[in-house]
Parts: sequence; structure tokens; C-alpha cells
Amino acid sequence: MGLETYQKKRDFKQTPEPRGRVSKANRHRFVVQEHHASMLHFDFRLEMGGVLKSWSVRKGPSLDPADKRLAVETEDHPVEYLKFEGHIPEGNYGAGEHMIWDEGKYELADGTDALKQYKEGRLKFELHGKKLKGFFNLVRLGGREDQWLLIKSKDEYAQPGWKLELRVKDERWEAETRRKPTKEQKSRKAGVRKTKSSKRAAEKAVSASRAFKSKELSGDMAVKVGDAVVSLTHLDKVYWPEEGYTKGDLIKYYFEVARYILPYLKDRPLIMKRYPNGIAGGFFHQHDVNEAPDYVRTETLDVEEGHEVDYIIGDDKATLIYMANLGAIERHPWHSRVRNLDHPDWFVFDLDPQGVRWEEICDVAVSCKEILDTLGLDSYAKTSGSRGIHIYVPIKPTYSYEEVADFAEGVARLVVEENAYVATVERSLKKRKKSRIYVDHMQNARGKSVVAPYSVRPKPGATISAPLEWSEVKRKKFTISDFTIKNMLERLKRRGDLFKEVLTNKQSLDRAISKLENLTEKPKTKRAAA
Ligand code: MN
Repeated sequence: MGLETYQKKRDFKQTPEPRGRVSKANRHRFVVQEHHASMLHFDFRLEMGGVLKSWSVRKGPSLDPADKRLAVETEDHPVEYLKFEGHIPEGNYGAGEHMIWDEGKYELADGTDALKQYKEGRLKFELHGKKLKGFFNLVRLGGREDQWLLIKSKDEYAQPGWKLELRVKDERWEAETRRKPTKEQKSRKAGVRKTKSSKRAAEKAVSASRAFKSKELSGDMAVKVGDAVVSLTHLDKVYWPEEGYTKGDLIKYYFEVARYILPYLKDRPLIMKRYPNGIAGGFFHQHDVNEAPDYVRTETLDVEEGHEVDYIIGDDKATLIYMANLGAIERHPWHSRVRNLDHPDWFVFDLDPQGVRWEEICDVAVSCKEILDTLGLDSYAKTSGSRGIHIYVPIKPTYSYEEVADFAEGVARLVVEENAYVATVERSLKKRKKSRIYVDHMQNARGKSVVAPYSVRPKPGATISAPLEWSEVKRKKFTISDFTIKNMLERLKRRGDLFKEVLTNKQSLDRAISKLENLTEKPKTKRAAA
């Protein structure tokens, strides 16, 4: 045992990784690192014998005991690596972003000699991390030198169905700003590093419309979209394993529906939810961007007091496909636009069903529409692309987020009253009765979002959030899975943009607010009468 292999593999003039030495202490620490190398994976390390025994876990650890994660043993790392985070430059071993996903201490379940148990190929230990807690097992596969399984024990910390969330890239920055940024830090933060495409890429670029005509997109390619040269990578990576749809299919879809979806993204900050390995892999949210190509519009927004975030503003076709290339499957625009950030120009009800027949969801949607009609407001429906229906109410951008959210809550309560047999505003899944439609009005706060119309969803079938006519909702002759990246364009060509009034119907809420008060605040009326 030692660090020879570790040190031989690295050039310490090039990499920021620690050279390290075998340590005398043995403090039973562990770390899990998220490593965005050529293939995203997680490095699981346990301190023993003066080094970190290390395993590369492709899908990362899981709190679900049913997940048996293949853990491939790699070279021993120095204990200094427990704290290592950073960017390993191109051309070096393990090149890419390397960050701590979880850390803490571990205890052996039995005995005290971790090395002995390691040599026997069977380790059971309890983790005291922030994310990983309770007992875990590392078991060497029979006859294999370096292949192990990492499995969660069934204990109080086990979570069936648990899904790994990648570490949010801007978390580190957020943590820093919470420690009150100095002016210097702020100005260092200000601005996104804009990168130019290389001359070579520009020369080799082909027109996007020509490139996307070819059926099979594979490998890497640079495409021209207007004046921009967009570098696309790993186009044949499978994003929807069941259907075999690739990243190329996703990019092509957004390119083709660009003129329909872009009006709903124009001037709005976009939240990215990135799936670098498709819908079956992990995802992470990214609001803040530090680097973007020069054609991508970004704005520095004051999200909270003293907390600035550089958002992508999803204005044009080039940006749309650039984001798809980053693995951002959905488009999540704010409800307000950059020039008038504090005043949303629509609000949304998300009817999210659990164990309810589709017909009932349609009925509640129609009931919600009728209540809004009574209040004098037009509303528009689309499939969520996941399970339910979204109802949009476009408004004049003169009301604060708080005013709008209060109003939306009042309406949601009326909808639940009218449909008490099936609808609820109870947010907690635990407290909710089994077969219920959750009338979610909570997404109407500043900085929150709902998927845009025509957004792809990371769901089997590559479903789309598809605008509907109310007559369709009333007939109930469709399902969520009817609308996919393979047929949405055809429907758009046939029916046009069914949502377009959402962009132009700037409704006042004044009368609706007083009508709602009359409908709901009966005690007040009584008091007034008395
Ligand atoms: Mn690694």
C-alpha cells in the first residue's frame, strides 16, 4: 500500500490535486466526490491504513437498498484528497470539474480493523454524512479483483425510490455570498466569462438547418445559427433509453419548434435543470452561469439582498440549442421579464394528480376555468407533459408577486371547495389522501417557474408540455403521452400556437380580486351588515 500509483498517474505541475503523503492518523473519515470527467461518476473514499481506499461509482451511492451500485476500485488516494475540489485541466488524468458531494465520518459495524475487512472483500460501515447516513455495505464480487457492489442496508435511513441529485454547481458561490460578500468578491463575480468559438470550429461549421435534415446525428459538430457558431457534442448519446432517442433528437426538436417556443422565453431568466446523462441519470439545477459563449445573452440579477446570479436569457435559436447541448431538457422561464422583474405577466395552477383517473383531472381543470370565468378572467390549458394539466392566467405586469400569489391561492381554495371529492391544496404528500389532485398554486413566487409550453420533459416517451383547446379538455379524448418530440411539430403546423393569447391578453386583476373577496370573505360581509 502506498501512493506510488496515485503519484505516477499525475503531473503535479499541471494538476491542482495534492501530492499528499501516507498519513499516520486514522480518523475514519469518508468523502464522496462528484467528478465531471469525460464520463460523470462519483468517487467514494474511505480513510484506512493512512490512505483513502477509493472506488469509482458510475451512478453514485444510493439510499435505496434495492440499488446495487457497481463500485470499481481505483488507486489509493492521499488523505489530503478529502478536501480536494477544483478543476483538473484538459489533458490530465481525470480532467474535469471535481467537487465534494458529501463528507463525514464512518464507523465499522463490527470490529475495528477496516483494512482486514477490506482485504476480505466485505465491509459494513455506518456513514455520518450530510446526505449519506446509516449502514452501507461494500462487497467484492467473487473472482473479481476490483469490482465491488455498494449497497445501502435496510435501516431507518433507507429511502426506497431515492434519487441522487447532483451537487448544484453554484452552491459554493451561494455559500460564499451568504458569508456577506465584500465589494471585491462582488465585482469579481459580476459578469459571465464569454467565450468565442475557435476559428477552426467556425470554419468547419455547417448551417444548422442543413445539418439537422440528416436523420442520424452523431459525434460532435459545429453548426451555424444566424451569426452564432454553436458547438454540439456527443449527439448520439442516448437520452431516452427506452425509445433510444438521443441528445441529437432533443436538439433537433428545439431547433424545429424554436419559432413557437421562443416567444415564451423572450426576456425571461431561465433556470437550467441539467441531465448530462439523459433522463435515467442524475440532474442538477443551475441558475448561475460563470461561463457562456459570446452569443448567449446573460443578465446579472439581484435575486436576494446582496446575492447576484447570472442567468441565461433564452432569447434566440442559438441559445435554445446551446442549452439543449448542455443537457437542459426542459425550459423553465420565470413568470416575469428582465426589464420588469418584480411583476409577473402570467400565473399558473399546476393540477398534479396522484392515483386519479385522467377524466377527473380534465373535469377539475374545466372547473378551474369556469371559476376563473366567473371572476372575469380568461385562462389557458396545457398538458404538463408529466402527469397533470397546467392552467395559465395572463395578466398585466403591474401586480407584485405577493399580490398574484395571494390571489392564486384564493382561487385554488375555491377550486378545491367545488371539487372537494378529489381536489386538495395539501402540499405534503404524506398528509394528502391517496387519490387526489393537488391544485398547486405555490409556483407563483419570484424565482420559481413552470415548464414552458412546448418544453420537452425528461419522461419516458419524450413528452411535451402541449397547449390544448378547452374543447379538447372537455372531450377528454387525449392523454399526456399523445404529445412527444416526434409529433409536436406536426400538430403545431396543423393547429398553430394554441397558447398565443397568453402573450397578448394582458388582463387586469382589479375586479377579479374584489369579486374573489366577495366570494370568500363572507364573515367580513356579515360584520359590515351588522
Ligand atoms: Mn474520479
